[in-house]
Amino acid sequence: KAKEAGGGVYAAYDPAMHNALMQRLGMADDLRLALERDELVLHYQPTVDLASGEIIGFEALVRWQHPTRGMVPPLEFIGIAESTGLIVPLGRWVLTEACRQAVEWGRPLKMAVNVSVRQFEAGDLAATVAAVLAETGMPADQLCLEMTESVLLTDTDENLSRIVALKALGVMLAMDDFGTGYSSLAYLRRFPMDVLKIDRSFVDRLTTGDAGDETLVTTIVRLGHRFGMRTVAEGIEDETQLTALRAMGCDYAQGYFLSRPLPSAAAGALLETGLPTYAAATPTR
Ligand code: C2E
Ligand code: MG
Ligand code: MG
Ligand code: MG
Repeated sequence: KAKEAGGGVYAAYDPAMHNALMQRLGMADDLRLALERDELVLHYQPTVDLASGEIIGFEALVRWQHPTRGMVPPLEFIGIAESTGLIVPLGRWVLTEACRQAVEWGRPLKMAVNVSVRQFEAGDLAATVAAVLAETGMPADQLCLEMTESVLLTDTDENLSRIVALKALGVMLAMDDFGTGYSSLAYLRRFPMDVLKIDRSFVDRLTTGDAGDETLVTTIVRLGHRFGMRTVAEGIEDETQLTALRAMGCDYAQGYFLSRPLPSAAAGALLETGLPTYAAATPTR
Protein backbone atom coordinates (compact mmCIF):
# COMPACT_ATOMS: atom_id res chain seq x y z
CA LYS A 1 0.00 0.00 0.00
CA ALA A 2 2.78 2.40 0.83
CA LYS A 3 4.23 1.70 -2.61
CA GLU A 4 0.99 2.54 -4.41
CA ALA A 5 0.89 5.79 -2.49
CA GLY A 6 4.23 6.72 -4.06
CA GLY A 7 6.30 5.81 -1.04
CA GLY A 8 8.98 4.09 -3.14
CA VAL A 9 10.41 1.01 -1.47
CA TYR A 10 9.02 1.82 1.94
CA ALA A 11 6.38 -0.37 3.49
CA ALA A 12 3.53 0.97 5.61
CA TYR A 13 4.76 2.74 8.74
CA ASP A 14 5.77 0.24 11.34
CA PRO A 15 6.78 1.72 14.68
CA ALA A 16 8.89 -1.30 15.67
CA MET A 17 10.84 -1.16 12.43
CA HIS A 18 11.19 2.58 12.75
CA ASN A 19 12.65 2.22 16.21
CA ALA A 20 15.04 -0.49 15.08
CA LEU A 21 16.20 1.73 12.24
CA MET A 22 16.63 4.76 14.47
CA GLN A 23 18.56 2.67 16.91
CA ARG A 24 20.84 1.47 14.16
CA LEU A 25 21.36 4.95 12.82
CA GLY A 26 22.03 6.31 16.28
CA MET A 27 24.40 3.46 16.92
CA ALA A 28 26.27 4.12 13.70
CA ASP A 29 26.97 7.70 14.80
CA ASP A 30 27.91 6.54 18.28
CA LEU A 31 30.23 3.93 16.85
CA ARG A 32 31.99 6.49 14.69
CA LEU A 33 32.56 8.57 17.82
CA ALA A 34 33.55 5.50 19.82
CA LEU A 35 36.54 4.99 17.56
CA GLU A 36 37.62 8.60 18.03
CA ARG A 37 36.99 8.51 21.76
CA ASP A 38 38.83 5.26 22.35
CA GLU A 39 35.79 3.44 23.70
CA LEU A 40 36.68 0.14 22.06
CA VAL A 41 38.61 -2.41 24.02
CA LEU A 42 40.02 -5.85 23.30
CA HIS A 43 39.59 -8.88 25.49
CA TYR A 44 41.85 -11.88 25.00
CA GLN A 45 40.83 -15.52 25.16
CA PRO A 46 43.69 -18.00 25.48
CA THR A 47 44.28 -20.76 22.95
CA VAL A 48 45.50 -23.82 24.79
CA ASP A 49 47.65 -26.70 23.59
CA LEU A 50 45.50 -29.75 24.36
CA ALA A 51 48.46 -32.06 24.87
CA SER A 52 50.48 -29.86 27.25
CA GLY A 53 47.94 -27.43 28.69
CA GLU A 54 50.17 -24.52 27.71
CA ILE A 55 48.78 -21.22 26.50
CA ILE A 56 50.12 -20.84 22.98
CA GLY A 57 48.36 -17.61 22.19
CA PHE A 58 45.19 -15.55 22.37
CA GLU A 59 42.25 -14.53 20.26
CA ALA A 60 41.50 -10.81 20.37
CA LEU A 61 37.78 -10.09 20.76
CA VAL A 62 36.51 -6.53 20.53
CA ARG A 63 34.08 -4.94 23.00
CA TRP A 64 32.58 -1.50 23.15
CA GLN A 65 32.69 0.28 26.48
CA HIS A 66 29.62 2.38 25.82
CA PRO A 67 29.19 5.43 28.12
CA THR A 68 25.56 4.54 28.89
CA ARG A 69 24.97 0.99 27.66
CA GLY A 70 27.95 -0.54 29.42
CA MET A 71 30.02 -3.29 27.79
CA VAL A 72 28.49 -3.98 24.37
CA PRO A 73 29.35 -7.38 22.80
CA PRO A 74 30.65 -7.47 19.21
CA LEU A 75 27.61 -9.16 17.70
CA GLU A 76 25.60 -6.03 18.59
CA PHE A 77 27.80 -3.65 16.61
CA ILE A 78 29.95 -5.52 14.07
CA GLY A 79 26.95 -5.76 11.73
CA ILE A 80 26.42 -2.01 11.90
CA ALA A 81 30.14 -1.42 11.42
CA GLU A 82 30.00 -3.63 8.33
CA SER A 83 26.97 -1.98 6.78
CA THR A 84 28.35 1.53 7.32
CA GLY A 85 31.90 0.75 6.22
CA LEU A 86 33.18 1.62 9.70
CA ILE A 87 34.50 -1.92 9.88
CA VAL A 88 37.56 -0.82 7.90
CA PRO A 89 38.92 1.72 10.42
CA LEU A 90 37.56 -0.41 13.30
CA GLY A 91 39.30 -3.49 11.94
CA ARG A 92 42.52 -1.60 11.53
CA TRP A 93 42.29 -0.43 15.11
CA VAL A 94 41.73 -4.02 16.32
CA LEU A 95 44.70 -5.31 14.31
CA THR A 96 46.99 -2.58 15.60
CA GLU A 97 45.93 -2.96 19.22
CA ALA A 98 46.19 -6.77 19.17
CA CYS A 99 49.67 -6.66 17.61
CA ARG A 100 50.81 -3.91 19.97
CA GLN A 101 49.66 -6.02 22.93
CA ALA A 102 51.35 -9.19 21.65
CA VAL A 103 54.63 -7.30 21.21
CA GLU A 104 54.25 -5.81 24.70
CA TRP A 105 53.86 -9.29 26.23
CA GLY A 106 57.19 -10.02 24.61
CA ARG A 107 56.73 -13.73 24.08
CA PRO A 108 56.40 -15.81 20.93
CA LEU A 109 52.60 -15.98 21.19
CA LYS A 110 50.11 -16.46 18.42
CA MET A 111 47.66 -13.59 18.24
CA ALA A 112 44.45 -14.33 16.39
CA VAL A 113 42.39 -11.45 15.00
CA ASN A 114 38.93 -11.75 13.43
CA VAL A 115 38.54 -10.26 9.99
CA SER A 116 35.08 -9.72 8.53
CA VAL A 117 34.13 -10.28 4.91
CA ARG A 118 33.57 -6.58 4.37
CA GLN A 119 36.99 -5.72 5.70
CA PHE A 120 38.45 -8.35 3.47
CA GLU A 121 36.69 -7.11 0.36
CA ALA A 122 36.94 -3.37 0.95
CA GLY A 123 40.34 -1.93 0.18
CA ASP A 124 43.65 -3.64 0.45
CA LEU A 125 43.72 -5.75 3.60
CA ALA A 126 47.19 -7.13 2.80
CA ALA A 127 48.59 -3.57 2.60
CA THR A 128 46.89 -2.70 5.90
CA VAL A 129 48.27 -5.81 7.59
CA ALA A 130 51.76 -5.12 6.24
CA ALA A 131 51.60 -1.54 7.56
CA VAL A 132 50.37 -2.68 10.99
CA LEU A 133 53.13 -5.31 11.26
CA ALA A 134 55.73 -2.67 10.41
CA GLU A 135 54.23 -0.10 12.79
CA THR A 136 54.04 -2.45 15.78
CA GLY A 137 57.08 -4.64 15.17
CA MET A 138 54.89 -7.75 15.30
CA PRO A 139 56.52 -10.77 13.61
CA ALA A 140 54.23 -11.83 10.75
CA ASP A 141 54.24 -15.51 11.72
CA GLN A 142 52.76 -14.67 15.12
CA LEU A 143 49.66 -13.11 13.62
CA CYS A 144 46.72 -15.28 12.62
CA LEU A 145 43.78 -13.83 10.72
CA GLU A 146 40.48 -15.57 11.34
CA MET A 147 37.85 -15.47 8.65
CA THR A 148 34.61 -17.34 8.11
CA GLU A 149 33.72 -19.40 5.10
CA SER A 150 31.63 -16.52 3.76
CA VAL A 151 34.92 -14.83 2.81
CA LEU A 152 35.54 -17.66 0.42
CA LEU A 153 32.11 -17.78 -1.12
CA THR A 154 31.89 -14.63 -3.22
CA ASP A 155 34.01 -13.49 -6.12
CA THR A 156 36.24 -16.46 -5.70
CA ASP A 157 39.14 -15.59 -8.01
CA GLU A 158 39.55 -12.16 -6.57
CA ASN A 159 39.29 -13.45 -3.04
CA LEU A 160 41.79 -16.18 -3.77
CA SER A 161 44.34 -13.56 -4.86
CA ARG A 162 43.61 -11.61 -1.67
CA ILE A 163 44.29 -14.75 0.36
CA VAL A 164 47.50 -15.35 -1.56
CA ALA A 165 48.61 -11.74 -0.91
CA LEU A 166 48.01 -12.20 2.82
CA LYS A 167 49.87 -15.52 2.85
CA ALA A 168 52.78 -13.84 1.08
CA LEU A 169 53.20 -11.58 4.13
CA GLY A 170 53.87 -14.68 6.22
CA VAL A 171 50.79 -14.39 8.43
CA MET A 172 48.69 -17.43 9.31
CA LEU A 173 45.11 -17.82 8.20
CA ALA A 174 42.37 -19.58 10.11
CA MET A 175 38.97 -20.70 8.98
CA ASP A 176 36.63 -19.71 11.79
CA ASP A 177 33.37 -21.46 12.75
CA PHE A 178 34.15 -24.36 10.44
CA GLY A 179 31.20 -26.53 9.57
CA THR A 180 28.55 -23.81 9.77
CA GLY A 181 28.87 -22.51 6.19
CA TYR A 182 28.57 -24.03 2.75
CA SER A 183 30.94 -25.88 0.45
CA SER A 184 33.42 -26.31 3.24
CA LEU A 185 35.21 -29.23 1.69
CA ALA A 186 35.82 -27.72 -1.73
CA TYR A 187 37.10 -24.51 -0.22
CA LEU A 188 39.47 -26.28 2.11
CA ARG A 189 41.15 -27.70 -0.94
CA ARG A 190 41.31 -24.45 -2.82
CA PHE A 191 42.38 -21.97 -0.16
CA PRO A 192 45.68 -22.26 1.72
CA MET A 193 44.45 -21.99 5.30
CA ASP A 194 46.73 -22.91 8.22
CA VAL A 195 44.19 -23.42 10.96
CA LEU A 196 40.74 -24.96 11.12
CA LYS A 197 38.53 -23.80 13.97
CA ILE A 198 35.83 -26.32 14.74
CA ASP A 199 32.60 -24.51 15.50
CA ARG A 200 31.26 -24.57 19.02
CA SER A 201 28.05 -26.26 17.89
CA PHE A 202 30.03 -29.47 17.21
CA VAL A 203 31.94 -29.23 20.48
CA ASP A 204 28.62 -28.79 22.33
CA ARG A 205 27.46 -32.17 21.13
CA LEU A 206 30.40 -33.96 22.77
CA THR A 207 28.87 -33.60 26.22
CA THR A 208 26.48 -36.50 25.85
CA GLY A 209 29.07 -39.04 24.73
CA ASP A 210 27.04 -39.89 21.63
CA ALA A 211 29.14 -42.06 19.30
CA GLY A 212 27.86 -40.40 16.14
CA ASP A 213 28.76 -36.92 17.38
CA GLU A 214 32.22 -38.12 18.36
CA THR A 215 32.71 -39.61 14.92
CA LEU A 216 31.68 -36.32 13.35
CA VAL A 217 34.21 -34.27 15.31
CA THR A 218 36.96 -36.87 14.88
CA THR A 219 36.35 -36.71 11.15
CA ILE A 220 36.68 -32.91 11.12
CA VAL A 221 39.96 -33.13 13.06
CA ARG A 222 41.34 -35.71 10.62
CA LEU A 223 40.12 -33.73 7.66
CA GLY A 224 41.97 -30.67 8.92
CA HIS A 225 45.14 -32.69 9.48
CA ARG A 226 44.87 -34.28 6.04
CA PHE A 227 44.91 -30.80 4.54
CA GLY A 228 47.94 -29.89 6.63
CA MET A 229 46.07 -27.68 9.05
CA ARG A 230 46.14 -27.35 12.81
CA THR A 231 42.77 -27.80 14.46
CA VAL A 232 41.30 -25.62 17.21
CA ALA A 233 38.13 -26.54 19.07
CA GLU A 234 35.96 -23.55 19.99
CA GLY A 235 33.76 -23.18 23.03
CA ILE A 236 34.88 -25.95 25.38
CA GLU A 237 32.64 -25.68 28.42
CA ASP A 238 33.33 -28.85 30.36
CA GLU A 239 35.87 -31.51 31.10
CA THR A 240 34.11 -34.19 29.06
CA GLN A 241 34.57 -32.15 25.92
CA LEU A 242 38.20 -31.42 26.79
CA THR A 243 39.01 -35.08 27.36
CA ALA A 244 37.21 -36.18 24.20
CA LEU A 245 38.96 -33.59 22.01
CA ARG A 246 42.34 -34.46 23.42
CA ALA A 247 41.72 -38.13 22.69
CA MET A 248 40.73 -37.22 19.12
CA GLY A 249 44.10 -35.55 18.56
CA CYS A 250 42.67 -32.06 18.22
CA ASP A 251 45.62 -29.67 18.59
CA TYR A 252 44.28 -26.66 20.46
CA ALA A 253 41.23 -25.49 22.33
CA GLN A 254 39.43 -22.41 23.55
CA GLY A 255 36.41 -22.11 25.78
CA TYR A 256 34.95 -20.95 29.07
CA PHE A 257 36.11 -24.17 30.77
CA LEU A 258 39.69 -23.09 30.10
CA SER A 259 39.24 -19.33 30.31
CA ARG A 260 36.76 -16.65 29.33
CA PRO A 261 38.04 -13.78 27.23
CA LEU A 262 39.92 -11.51 29.65
CA PRO A 263 40.94 -7.86 29.82
CA SER A 264 44.60 -7.41 28.86
CA ALA A 265 45.95 -7.18 32.43
CA ALA A 266 44.23 -10.42 33.48
CA ALA A 267 45.35 -12.15 30.28
CA GLY A 268 48.93 -11.06 30.95
CA ALA A 269 48.67 -12.41 34.52
CA LEU A 270 47.33 -15.74 33.23
CA LEU A 271 50.36 -16.00 30.98
CA GLU A 272 52.53 -15.91 34.10
CA THR A 273 50.56 -18.45 36.14
CA GLY A 274 49.22 -20.82 33.49
CA LEU A 275 45.75 -22.32 33.62
CA PRO A 276 44.49 -23.62 36.96
CA THR A 277 41.52 -25.48 35.47
CA TYR A 278 43.72 -27.38 33.15
CA ALA A 279 46.17 -28.49 35.82
CA ALA A 280 43.21 -29.87 37.77
CA ALA A 281 41.80 -31.65 34.74
CA THR A 282 45.10 -33.22 33.71
CA PRO A 283 46.06 -36.38 35.54
CA THR A 284 49.77 -36.44 36.35
CA ARG A 285 51.62 -38.75 34.02
P1 C2E B 1 34.23 -15.94 17.08
O1 C2E B 1 35.39 -15.36 16.36
O2 C2E B 1 33.80 -17.29 16.68
O3 C2E B 1 34.62 -15.88 18.61
C1 C2E B 1 34.21 -16.80 19.58
C2 C2E B 1 33.06 -16.27 20.41
O4 C2E B 1 32.62 -17.31 21.29
C3 C2E B 1 33.41 -15.08 21.31
O5 C2E B 1 32.25 -14.29 21.47
C4 C2E B 1 33.75 -15.79 22.62
O6 C2E B 1 33.63 -14.95 23.75
C5 C2E B 1 32.72 -16.87 22.63
N1 C2E B 1 33.14 -18.03 23.43
C6 C2E B 1 34.38 -18.46 23.72
N2 C2E B 1 34.36 -19.58 24.47
C7 C2E B 1 33.06 -19.87 24.68
C8 C2E B 1 32.38 -20.92 25.38
O7 C2E B 1 32.97 -21.80 25.99
N3 C2E B 1 31.02 -20.89 25.36
C9 C2E B 1 30.32 -19.91 24.71
N4 C2E B 1 28.98 -19.96 24.76
N5 C2E B 1 30.93 -18.92 24.02
C10 C2E B 1 32.28 -18.90 24.00
P2 C2E B 1 32.27 -12.71 21.32
O8 C2E B 1 33.51 -12.14 21.92
O9 C2E B 1 30.95 -12.21 21.76
O10 C2E B 1 32.42 -12.54 19.75
C11 C2E B 1 31.41 -12.98 18.88
C12 C2E B 1 31.84 -12.87 17.44
O11 C2E B 1 32.04 -11.51 17.08
C13 C2E B 1 33.15 -13.55 17.13
O12 C2E B 1 32.94 -14.94 16.96
C14 C2E B 1 33.55 -12.85 15.86
O13 C2E B 1 32.88 -13.40 14.75
C15 C2E B 1 33.02 -11.45 16.09
N6 C2E B 1 34.12 -10.57 16.52
C16 C2E B 1 34.66 -10.43 17.75
N7 C2E B 1 35.67 -9.54 17.72
C17 C2E B 1 35.78 -9.11 16.43
C18 C2E B 1 36.65 -8.20 15.73
O14 C2E B 1 37.56 -7.59 16.32
N8 C2E B 1 36.43 -8.03 14.40
C19 C2E B 1 35.45 -8.69 13.73
N9 C2E B 1 35.31 -8.47 12.43
N10 C2E B 1 34.63 -9.57 14.34
C20 C2E B 1 34.79 -9.78 15.67
MG1 MG C 1 37.20 -16.01 15.83
MG1 MG D 1 34.72 -18.83 15.92
MG1 MG E 1 31.83 -18.27 16.47
